[in-house]
Amino acid sequence: MNIAVLGATGSIGTQTLDVVRTCLPRARVKVLTGYRNIPLLDSLVKEFEPELVWVPDDGEDKLIACATHPDIDIVVNALVGKAGLRPTLAAIKAGKDVALANKESLVTAGELIMKLASEHGVRVVPIDSEHSAILQCLQGCNDGNDVEKIILTASGGPFRTWPKERIEKATAADALRHPNWSMGPKITIDSATLMNKGLELIEAKWLFDQPLSKIEILVHPQSIIHSMVQFVDGAVMAQLGMPDMRLPILYALAGSTRVANDFPRLDFLAAGDLTFEAPDTNRFPCLALAKHAAEVGGTLPAVMNAVNEWAVGQFLQDKIDFYGISALIAEAFGSYTVREVTGLADIREAEAWAEEFVQKQ
Ligand code: NAD
Ligand code: MG
Repeated sequence: MNIAVLGATGSIGTQTLDVVRTCLPRARVKVLTGYRNIPLLDSLVKEFEPELVWVPDDGEDKLIACATHPDIDIVVNALVGKAGLRPTLAAIKAGKDVALANKESLVTAGELIMKLASEHGVRVVPIDSEHSAILQCLQGCNDGNDVEKIILTASGGPFRTWPKERIEKATAADALRHPNWSMGPKITIDSATLMNKGLELIEAKWLFDQPLSKIEILVHPQSIIHSMVQFVDGAVMAQLGMPDMRLPILYALAGSTRVANDFPRLDFLAAGDLTFEAPDTNRFPCLALAKHAAEVGGTLPAVMNAVNEWAVGQFLQDKIDFYGISALIAEAFGSYTVREVTGLADIREAEAWAEEFVQKQ
């Protein structure tokens, strides 16, 4: 199996390479892309000796060449944000399976991606702990109609127990302290606002072809149950494990087969109680905004995603406060006229509208 790792120097990228090193001796990493961390990229190039490497100076066309390299069987898209969409589409069109960490691709263009994947006979497999859990729970389920609901679990993030007055004053440093997972900065902020769960709701809708009415969000602070599926006979399947992204990565790369490894095991006695809560959209308005975007559909999720990405960047630089993120998205929703998505051009237009909107701030 020949692999391309896009975003090799990031959190998912480096863990993907760790999985290849430790669990997949026959896999070859033939393409790597980096962004800012050039010393790390250099050392990865020395270790894996890929045929093609991309850095931003090379231009976007070469990034597409990386996603479509003729020798590659599977593309791991571990890019962050809207930059991930074109490589996802290009890889699918070139007949590559895609192991997709870049959930923003599905949020902005889920319908296009799933349609293209079925036309080109390729698999789009999630590298997201919840969606990998759902996929594992669905193993052996041959009829989507047997699913009564998908239960998407959420840790609740670092501010789960904070009152609104305290969250209002939260800094980027507070938000970057995630209780269970160590991840890149953008998704860590998305986890604090619960936008991440909203993005995952949309991601689940497209990946598993289920209506929003059949996807429920449940806060589970211990992050041990990674998500569940309830079937029409009332049976509930859950996937449990340590909060370790290497398992979803391995499961995606191994084509839904089980590969032995020595990752840390779940210790039930040490884990203690597993608890559950309803999500609070009053303290976490981004979740309600994402649900709204999911329901309206069309180009609205693309606008939300682009405005959110910009706002998260501003929050990380202490230029806006925590609730400034949701306020900006709500304002964008108020002034944007939603359009149908018939092709990539509609998404480009929505993102251009969002760009103009945020530049006016
Ligand atoms: P990260 O910031 O650690 O890494 C992002 C990578 O993308 C970097 O390697 C960088 O080289 C590259 N990159 C950034 N901007 C780019 C651009 N404009 N063009 C090209 N390359 C660019 O992020 P991450 O935490 O690894 O997240 C990657 C994706 O995986 C995100 O979509 C995130 O939502 C998803 N995800 C991450 C985790 C996790 O545990 N980190 C879990 C689930 C899903
Ligand atoms: Mg997740």
